[in-house]
Amino acid sequence: MVRDRIDRIGVVGAGTMGSGIAQVGAIHGFEVVMRDVESAFVESGFETVEDSLERLDSKDALEENPETIRNRIEGTTELEAFEDCDLVIEAVLEDLEVKKAVFADLEDVCDADVLLATNTSTLSITSIASDLDHPERVVGLHFMNPVPLMEGVEVVVGERTTDAATDLAHEIADALEKTTWESDDKPGFVTNRILMPWINEGIRAYDEGVASKGDIDAGMELGTNVPMGPLSLADHIGLDVCLHASETLSEELGDRYKPAYLLKRKVEAGDLGKKTGRGFYEYD
Ligand code: NAD
Repeated sequence: MVRDRIDRIGVVGAGTMGSGIAQVGAIHGFEVVMRDVESAFVESGFETVEDSLERLDSKDALEENPETIRNRIEGTTELEAFEDCDLVIEAVLEDLEVKKAVFADLEDVCDADVLLATNTSTLSITSIASDLDHPERVVGLHFMNPVPLMEGVEVVVGERTTDAATDLAHEIADALEKTTWESDDKPGFVTNRILMPWINEGIRAYDEGVASKGDIDAGMELGTNVPMGPLSLADHIGLDVCLHASETLSEELGDRYKPAYLLKRKVEAGDLGKKTGRGFYEYD
Protein backbone atom coordinates (compact mmCIF):
# COMPACT_ATOMS: atom_id res chain seq x y z
CA MET A 1 0.00 0.00 0.00
CA VAL A 2 1.41 3.31 -1.09
CA ARG A 3 0.05 5.13 1.99
CA ASP A 4 2.07 2.84 4.28
CA ARG A 5 5.20 4.11 2.55
CA ILE A 6 4.37 7.69 1.71
CA ASP A 7 3.03 10.37 4.07
CA ARG A 8 5.01 13.39 3.08
CA ILE A 9 5.59 14.53 -0.49
CA GLY A 10 8.20 17.12 -1.45
CA VAL A 11 7.59 19.31 -4.50
CA VAL A 12 10.48 21.31 -5.99
CA GLY A 13 9.23 24.45 -7.74
CA ALA A 14 6.05 26.37 -6.88
CA GLY A 15 5.21 27.43 -10.45
CA THR A 16 2.34 26.31 -12.67
CA MET A 17 3.02 22.59 -12.30
CA GLY A 18 4.62 22.48 -8.83
CA SER A 19 1.71 24.34 -7.20
CA GLY A 20 -0.76 22.08 -9.02
CA ILE A 21 1.03 18.91 -7.88
CA ALA A 22 1.23 20.23 -4.29
CA GLN A 23 -2.50 20.98 -4.37
CA VAL A 24 -3.45 17.54 -5.67
CA GLY A 25 -1.24 15.89 -3.03
CA ALA A 26 -2.90 17.91 -0.25
CA ILE A 27 -6.42 17.21 -1.57
CA HIS A 28 -5.62 13.50 -1.28
CA GLY A 29 -4.50 13.79 2.35
CA PHE A 30 -0.70 13.85 1.94
CA GLU A 31 1.50 16.29 3.85
CA VAL A 32 3.29 18.37 1.22
CA VAL A 33 6.45 20.49 1.29
CA MET A 34 6.53 22.98 -1.61
CA ARG A 35 9.89 24.63 -2.19
CA ASP A 36 10.98 27.44 -4.49
CA VAL A 37 14.13 29.55 -4.63
CA GLU A 38 12.52 32.78 -3.34
CA SER A 39 9.71 33.28 -0.85
CA ALA A 40 7.84 35.51 -3.36
CA PHE A 41 7.61 32.47 -5.69
CA VAL A 42 6.38 30.29 -2.82
CA GLU A 43 3.71 32.89 -2.00
CA SER A 44 2.65 33.05 -5.62
CA GLY A 45 2.36 29.23 -5.61
CA PHE A 46 0.07 29.44 -2.57
CA GLU A 47 -2.09 32.06 -4.33
CA THR A 48 -2.53 29.68 -7.27
CA VAL A 49 -3.45 26.84 -4.90
CA GLU A 50 -5.92 28.97 -2.93
CA ASP A 51 -7.66 30.31 -6.08
CA SER A 52 -7.96 26.82 -7.50
CA LEU A 53 -9.29 25.36 -4.22
CA GLU A 54 -11.90 28.14 -3.99
CA ARG A 55 -13.05 27.40 -7.55
CA LEU A 56 -13.29 23.67 -6.85
CA ASP A 57 -15.12 24.34 -3.58
CA SER A 58 -17.68 26.57 -5.34
CA LYS A 59 -18.44 23.58 -7.58
CA ASP A 60 -18.76 21.26 -4.53
CA ALA A 61 -15.80 19.29 -5.84
CA LEU A 62 -13.92 19.09 -2.51
CA GLU A 63 -14.55 16.75 0.40
CA GLU A 64 -12.92 19.06 2.94
CA ASN A 65 -12.84 22.80 3.34
CA PRO A 66 -10.16 24.61 1.30
CA GLU A 67 -8.31 25.86 4.38
CA THR A 68 -7.83 22.34 5.79
CA ILE A 69 -6.38 21.25 2.46
CA ARG A 70 -4.22 24.37 2.09
CA ASN A 71 -2.78 23.86 5.58
CA ARG A 72 -1.36 20.48 4.60
CA ILE A 73 1.12 22.35 2.39
CA GLU A 74 4.24 23.76 3.99
CA GLY A 75 5.97 26.43 1.91
CA THR A 76 9.74 26.81 2.12
CA THR A 77 12.91 27.99 0.42
CA GLU A 78 15.03 25.53 2.43
CA LEU A 79 16.36 22.36 0.87
CA GLU A 80 16.52 20.64 4.30
CA ALA A 81 12.71 20.65 4.43
CA PHE A 82 12.85 17.61 2.10
CA GLU A 83 14.76 15.56 4.70
CA ASP A 84 11.61 13.84 6.00
CA CYS A 85 9.89 13.40 2.62
CA ASP A 86 9.11 9.90 1.37
CA LEU A 87 8.87 11.06 -2.24
CA VAL A 88 10.07 14.22 -4.00
CA ILE A 89 8.65 15.46 -7.31
CA GLU A 90 10.73 18.00 -9.20
CA ALA A 91 8.90 20.66 -11.25
CA VAL A 92 11.47 23.39 -11.89
CA LEU A 93 12.12 25.00 -15.26
CA GLU A 94 12.86 22.81 -18.27
CA ASP A 95 16.67 23.03 -18.26
CA LEU A 96 18.86 19.95 -17.98
CA GLU A 97 21.65 21.58 -15.96
CA VAL A 98 19.18 23.15 -13.49
CA LYS A 99 17.38 19.83 -13.04
CA LYS A 100 20.67 17.92 -12.58
CA ALA A 101 21.69 20.39 -9.85
CA VAL A 102 18.30 19.96 -8.13
CA PHE A 103 18.67 16.15 -8.13
CA ALA A 104 22.25 16.38 -6.81
CA ASP A 105 20.90 18.52 -3.93
CA LEU A 106 18.07 16.05 -3.31
CA GLU A 107 20.51 13.16 -3.16
CA ASP A 108 22.36 15.03 -0.40
CA VAL A 109 19.29 15.46 1.81
CA CYS A 110 17.05 12.48 1.05
CA ASP A 111 17.55 8.86 2.13
CA ALA A 112 18.70 6.48 -0.62
CA ASP A 113 15.32 4.72 -0.80
CA VAL A 114 13.27 7.89 -1.39
CA LEU A 115 11.70 7.94 -4.84
CA LEU A 116 12.79 10.99 -6.84
CA ALA A 117 10.48 11.94 -9.70
CA THR A 118 10.75 14.57 -12.42
CA ASN A 119 7.87 16.30 -14.17
CA THR A 120 10.00 17.04 -17.25
CA SER A 121 8.10 17.35 -20.54
CA THR A 122 10.92 16.47 -22.92
CA LEU A 123 14.26 15.99 -21.15
CA SER A 124 15.77 12.54 -20.72
CA ILE A 125 15.19 10.92 -17.31
CA THR A 126 18.46 9.02 -17.82
CA SER A 127 20.39 12.28 -18.43
CA ILE A 128 18.79 14.01 -15.43
CA ALA A 129 19.88 11.06 -13.21
CA SER A 130 23.25 10.46 -14.86
CA ASP A 131 25.49 11.99 -12.15
CA LEU A 132 23.66 10.48 -9.17
CA ASP A 133 24.83 7.69 -6.88
CA HIS A 134 21.32 6.19 -7.00
CA PRO A 135 19.86 6.78 -10.49
CA GLU A 136 17.71 3.66 -10.09
CA ARG A 137 15.15 5.55 -7.96
CA VAL A 138 14.63 8.35 -10.52
CA VAL A 139 11.48 8.17 -12.62
CA GLY A 140 9.38 10.50 -14.77
CA LEU A 141 5.99 11.49 -13.34
CA HIS A 142 4.73 13.73 -16.12
CA PHE A 143 1.61 15.50 -14.88
CA MET A 144 -0.52 17.43 -17.36
CA ASN A 145 -1.58 21.08 -17.10
CA PRO A 146 -3.77 22.06 -15.24
CA VAL A 147 -2.81 19.34 -12.76
CA PRO A 148 -5.98 19.46 -10.61
CA LEU A 149 -8.20 18.93 -13.66
CA MET A 150 -6.23 16.65 -15.98
CA GLU A 151 -6.65 12.96 -15.27
CA GLY A 152 -3.59 11.59 -17.03
CA VAL A 153 -0.03 11.11 -15.78
CA GLU A 154 2.74 9.71 -17.99
CA VAL A 155 5.17 7.46 -16.12
CA VAL A 156 8.57 7.59 -17.84
CA VAL A 157 11.09 4.82 -17.28
CA GLY A 158 14.77 5.79 -17.49
CA GLU A 159 17.61 3.47 -18.50
CA ARG A 160 18.48 2.75 -14.85
CA THR A 161 15.00 3.08 -13.30
CA THR A 162 14.06 -0.11 -11.42
CA ASP A 163 10.75 -1.93 -11.71
CA ALA A 164 10.13 -1.14 -8.03
CA ALA A 165 10.49 2.61 -8.67
CA THR A 166 8.26 2.39 -11.75
CA ASP A 167 5.59 0.45 -9.85
CA LEU A 168 5.66 2.95 -7.00
CA ALA A 169 5.26 5.84 -9.47
CA HIS A 170 2.09 4.20 -10.86
CA GLU A 171 0.78 3.60 -7.32
CA ILE A 172 1.37 7.21 -6.27
CA ALA A 173 -0.46 8.52 -9.34
CA ASP A 174 -3.28 6.11 -8.54
CA ALA A 175 -3.43 7.42 -4.93
CA LEU A 176 -3.82 10.91 -6.45
CA GLU A 177 -6.75 9.57 -8.53
CA LYS A 178 -4.83 9.92 -11.77
CA THR A 179 -4.69 7.40 -14.59
CA THR A 180 -1.26 6.47 -15.91
CA TRP A 181 0.36 5.19 -19.05
CA GLU A 182 4.00 4.28 -19.40
CA SER A 183 6.63 5.50 -21.81
CA ASP A 184 10.22 4.53 -22.38
CA ASP A 185 12.74 7.36 -21.95
CA LYS A 186 12.72 8.35 -25.64
CA PRO A 187 12.54 11.99 -26.82
CA GLY A 188 9.14 13.57 -26.07
CA PHE A 189 7.85 10.33 -24.52
CA VAL A 190 4.40 9.44 -25.90
CA THR A 191 2.62 12.76 -25.46
CA ASN A 192 4.98 15.46 -26.68
CA ARG A 193 6.48 13.31 -29.41
CA ILE A 194 3.05 13.21 -31.04
CA LEU A 195 1.61 16.52 -29.82
CA MET A 196 4.45 18.88 -30.84
CA PRO A 197 4.50 18.00 -34.57
CA TRP A 198 0.68 18.27 -34.55
CA ILE A 199 0.85 21.78 -33.07
CA ASN A 200 3.64 22.83 -35.43
CA GLU A 201 1.72 21.52 -38.44
CA GLY A 202 -1.32 23.55 -37.31
CA ILE A 203 0.86 26.69 -37.12
CA ARG A 204 2.40 26.00 -40.55
CA ALA A 205 -1.03 25.42 -42.06
CA TYR A 206 -2.12 28.82 -40.71
CA ASP A 207 1.11 30.54 -41.84
CA GLU A 208 0.82 29.03 -45.33
CA GLY A 209 -2.79 30.19 -45.70
CA VAL A 210 -4.51 26.80 -45.70
CA ALA A 211 -7.33 28.24 -43.56
CA SER A 212 -8.01 30.91 -40.94
CA LYS A 213 -6.87 30.11 -37.40
CA GLY A 214 -10.50 29.66 -36.33
CA ASP A 215 -11.10 27.20 -39.18
CA ILE A 216 -7.94 25.24 -38.42
CA ASP A 217 -9.00 24.83 -34.78
CA ALA A 218 -12.63 24.12 -35.73
CA GLY A 219 -11.51 21.57 -38.33
CA MET A 220 -9.51 19.63 -35.77
CA GLU A 221 -12.07 20.00 -32.95
CA LEU A 222 -15.16 19.11 -34.98
CA GLY A 223 -13.44 16.86 -37.49
CA THR A 224 -11.32 14.74 -35.16
CA ASN A 225 -13.11 15.16 -31.81
CA VAL A 226 -10.22 16.73 -29.87
CA PRO A 227 -11.30 19.29 -27.23
CA MET A 228 -8.92 22.02 -28.45
CA GLY A 229 -7.41 22.71 -31.87
CA PRO A 230 -3.63 23.16 -32.31
CA LEU A 231 -3.51 26.97 -32.20
CA SER A 232 -5.72 27.29 -29.09
CA LEU A 233 -3.80 24.51 -27.40
CA ALA A 234 -0.44 26.17 -28.21
CA ASP A 235 -1.71 29.41 -26.62
CA HIS A 236 -2.85 27.44 -23.58
CA ILE A 237 0.47 25.61 -23.12
CA GLY A 238 2.58 28.75 -23.82
CA LEU A 239 4.28 29.38 -27.16
CA ASP A 240 7.70 29.60 -25.48
CA VAL A 241 7.13 26.17 -23.91
CA CYS A 242 6.10 24.73 -27.32
CA LEU A 243 9.15 26.29 -29.01
CA HIS A 244 11.53 24.95 -26.38
CA ALA A 245 10.00 21.45 -26.55
CA SER A 246 10.13 21.45 -30.38
CA GLU A 247 13.79 22.53 -30.38
CA THR A 248 14.73 19.79 -27.91
CA LEU A 249 12.88 17.19 -30.01
CA SER A 250 14.39 18.35 -33.30
CA GLU A 251 17.90 18.09 -31.82
CA GLU A 252 17.22 14.41 -31.10
CA LEU A 253 14.81 13.42 -33.88
CA GLY A 254 15.76 15.67 -36.79
CA ASP A 255 14.08 18.09 -39.15
CA ARG A 256 10.56 16.71 -38.97
CA TYR A 257 10.43 18.18 -35.43
CA LYS A 258 11.71 21.63 -36.41
CA PRO A 259 9.53 24.38 -34.88
CA ALA A 260 7.31 26.31 -37.29
CA TYR A 261 8.72 29.68 -38.40
CA LEU A 262 5.67 31.56 -37.08
CA LEU A 263 6.05 29.93 -33.66
CA LYS A 264 9.59 31.33 -33.39
CA ARG A 265 8.48 34.77 -34.61
CA LYS A 266 5.64 35.01 -32.07
CA VAL A 267 7.92 34.00 -29.20
CA GLU A 268 10.47 36.63 -30.33
CA ALA A 269 7.67 39.21 -30.30
CA GLY A 270 6.75 38.22 -26.72
CA ASP A 271 3.33 36.87 -27.73
CA LEU A 272 3.46 33.69 -25.64
CA GLY A 273 -0.24 32.79 -25.61
CA LYS A 274 -2.77 33.01 -22.79
CA LYS A 275 -0.19 33.92 -20.15
CA THR A 276 0.78 37.19 -21.92
CA GLY A 277 -2.75 37.94 -23.13
CA ARG A 278 -1.86 37.34 -26.78
CA GLY A 279 -0.69 34.40 -28.87
CA PHE A 280 -2.65 33.21 -31.89
CA TYR A 281 -5.73 34.66 -30.16
CA GLU A 282 -6.25 37.56 -27.73
CA TYR A 283 -7.22 37.02 -24.06
CA ASP A 284 -8.52 39.43 -21.41
P1 NAD B 1 7.18 27.49 -14.06
O1 NAD B 1 8.15 28.42 -14.70
O2 NAD B 1 5.75 27.90 -13.91
O3 NAD B 1 7.72 27.08 -12.60
C1 NAD B 1 9.03 26.67 -12.35
C2 NAD B 1 9.37 27.10 -10.93
O4 NAD B 1 10.58 26.48 -10.53
C3 NAD B 1 9.59 28.62 -10.78
O5 NAD B 1 8.74 29.11 -9.75
C4 NAD B 1 11.06 28.72 -10.40
O6 NAD B 1 11.35 29.81 -9.52
C5 NAD B 1 11.28 27.39 -9.72
N1 NAD B 1 12.68 26.97 -9.61
C6 NAD B 1 13.69 27.14 -10.49
N2 NAD B 1 14.82 26.58 -10.01
C7 NAD B 1 14.51 26.05 -8.80
C8 NAD B 1 15.24 25.34 -7.81
N3 NAD B 1 16.53 25.08 -7.98
N4 NAD B 1 14.60 24.95 -6.68
C9 NAD B 1 13.28 25.23 -6.50
N5 NAD B 1 12.53 25.89 -7.42
C10 NAD B 1 13.14 26.30 -8.54
O7 NAD B 1 7.29 26.13 -14.89
P2 NAD B 1 6.17 24.99 -15.07
O8 NAD B 1 5.32 25.32 -16.23
O9 NAD B 1 5.56 24.72 -13.75
O10 NAD B 1 7.08 23.75 -15.52
C11 NAD B 1 7.81 23.00 -14.58
C12 NAD B 1 8.21 21.68 -15.22
O11 NAD B 1 7.02 20.97 -15.60
C13 NAD B 1 9.06 21.80 -16.49
O12 NAD B 1 9.97 20.74 -16.53
C14 NAD B 1 8.02 21.67 -17.59
O13 NAD B 1 8.59 21.18 -18.80
C15 NAD B 1 7.07 20.64 -16.99
N6 NAD B 1 5.71 20.65 -17.53
C16 NAD B 1 5.07 21.83 -17.78
C17 NAD B 1 3.77 21.79 -18.28
C18 NAD B 1 3.02 23.07 -18.59
O14 NAD B 1 2.03 23.02 -19.35
N7 NAD B 1 3.41 24.21 -18.01
C19 NAD B 1 3.12 20.56 -18.48
C20 NAD B 1 3.78 19.38 -18.16
C21 NAD B 1 5.09 19.44 -17.68
